[in-house]
Amino acid sequence: MSARTYTGSCHCGAIRFEADLDLAEGSNRCNCSYCAKARAWFAFAKGPDRFRLLDGTGVSEYRWTPPGDAEPHLTFTFCRTCGVRTFARGNLESLGGTFHAISVPALDLSDEQRAAIPVRYINGRERRYDETPAHPEAI
Ligand SMILES: [Zn+2]
Repeated sequence: MSARTYTGSCHCGAIRFEADLDLAEGSNRCNCSYCAKARAWFAFAKGPDRFRLLDGTGVSEYRWTPPGDAEPHLTFTFCRTCGVRTFARGNLESLGGTFHAISVPALDLSDEQRAAIPVRYINGRERRYDETPAHPEAI
């Protein structure tokens, strides 16, 4: 498979974006304290040129520093009007520098497309990123 361009938005449309994603590469569900509360489900657009913000009128941002870390790794965005989470951005060498973690529920996909995306369950709470958490169904 290869990457193609998908569009996405919040509910009210005050945030609109497009991202080049290979959804067959899979997506992540994580049990860290943020992802668990947000029920986050992310697909990754690796590299600065794989993401375009088309309308950022509604963007609000949230950052947090995981315990034991010096600084936040991700800047999460959500819409200040409708509250829908849309994407996060970060910078990691292993992901090609600047990357965007795209909220899969915010993408304009059919049920069939969404259901076909492989999901990796990640034990971020205990920083064991290559392990499946004990209760993935609870994430
Ligand atoms: Zn909105």
